[in-house]
Amino acid sequence: MFKNCEELRHYIQEHGVEMIDFKMIDLSGRWRHLTIPAERFTEETLASGIGFDASNYGFAPLEKSDMVFIPDLTSAFTDPFCSVPTINMIGDVYVIGNPHTTFDQDPRVIAKAAEDYLHSTGIADEIRIGPEFEFFVFDHVSYETSPHKTGFRIDAKQADWNSGKDNDNLGFNVPHKGGYHIDIPFDDLYNLRSEICMLLEERGVKVKYHHHEVAGPGQVEIEVEFGNLREMADKTMLVKYIVRNAAFKAGKSATFMPKPLYGEAGNGLHVHMHLFKNNQPVFYEKGNYSDLSSTAMYFIGGILKHAPAISALANPSTNSYKRLVPGYEAPVNICFASSNRSAVIRIPGYAVKPEKKRFEYRAGDGTANPYLAYSAMLMAGIDGILNKIDPVEGGYGPYDVNLYNLPEEEKQKIKSLPSSLDEAITALENDYEFLLAGNVFPKRLLEIWAEQKRNEARAVSLIPNPAEFGMYYDL
Ligand code: GLU
Ligand code: MG
Ligand code: MG
Repeated sequence: MFKNCEELRHYIQEHGVEMIDFKMIDLSGRWRHLTIPAERFTEETLASGIGFDASNYGFAPLEKSDMVFIPDLTSAFTDPFCSVPTINMIGDVYVIGNPHTTFDQDPRVIAKAAEDYLHSTGIADEIRIGPEFEFFVFDHVSYETSPHKTGFRIDAKQADWNSGKDNDNLGFNVPHKGGYHIDIPFDDLYNLRSEICMLLEERGVKVKYHHHEVAGPGQVEIEVEFGNLREMADKTMLVKYIVRNAAFKAGKSATFMPKPLYGEAGNGLHVHMHLFKNNQPVFYEKGNYSDLSSTAMYFIGGILKHAPAISALANPSTNSYKRLVPGYEAPVNICFASSNRSAVIRIPGYAVKPEKKRFEYRAGDGTANPYLAYSAMLMAGIDGILNKIDPVEGGYGPYDVNLYNLPEEEKQKIKSLPSSLDEAITALENDYEFLLAGNVFPKRLLEIWAEQKRNEARAVSLIPNPAEFGMYYDL
């Protein structure tokens, strides 16, 4: 938004901006923020940064936890939710020195390193990414307050529907699994979505379209136009921020959690991607399978080979694995196809022009740190290209058939995604070299990631599950 401090100062004066709010990305993928009065923002802020204690951000322990962040002026956007006029900007984390050096565990630094690595291979000079954001909007979610804190309650329209109770929408109830593209007045989140999309457009996120999703009332989707990897990770943070806060302002609660409701579709974060060199598409070659070039096929081969390890970063919650089950258009099978929605990789049939030729990685979900997840996808793809990993020879497809109708022995050949967070972490521990190439991911970061995620899995496994009461209470 701003090229230099001068432009920012000018904007501050003209628009009466009072506060500058800095957003830093922690390891898990949340924004944390710290705010200064606008008049204190000077050239010195950009030169020396602002000191903070990084030890609460989840990164691997360091000798010195004192760090600085330096705001990225180009990431600035006006905040539509704060009562005091505020400009937000993303801060990059640096290790203190003279001069400061970038902190290799900062997710934004990793995303930049992944893009630089792609460039250095000569394969392409940019990756363009197009994510699809699925999320639920609930009326109210409350955490259980019992001393044992064993769960939480969702007071949603959804919950009302499940209990058969008619809510206040005068009979226009979205049918179970019948919400896809449903029109108003059923789609009573249309206005909220449109407002969200206008806020996004004003902040440089171009919206492709938005609509109601499959799950009964409350599941919606926003798709945005493509951007480069780090740019799109920034935009992913912004989309989630705007969605969450706009819903909150409207007295509602939005979640990207992969499977908040049993028996309903979950929330995916599908990622479309393709490579470009000198602005020319690299993935197109007429006459091949789905007109994909051999580079595109090798990229697919790399993603499928490393799919279980990628899941540790793209599906990094215990809840992720409640979504990756058959029956809800979420992928289960490590294979590629043109039309099959249970495949990890789908090549959209409507993208026929050379510059549109791409594929969709369907496994990811919104609990991912987007910088790490998008970087892992690219690193797997580059590994596939450099090592000529052919997905057809590898037995990964194409499977343009109904997988359920395949003979049993054929079905057995198709590998499945990990079925739990623990399994995904084990896969990452056994397959991480492709992430270390070009010094993109620090090994220490992957170790701390594995440790934290194992802790999360253990914590969840210790909590009695509501389903256990149904199954075992009377035994
Ligand atoms: N909600 C589905 C998922 O969990 C995807 C539906 C779609 O294809 O848009 O991935
Ligand atoms: Mg969808
Ligand atoms: Mg999709």
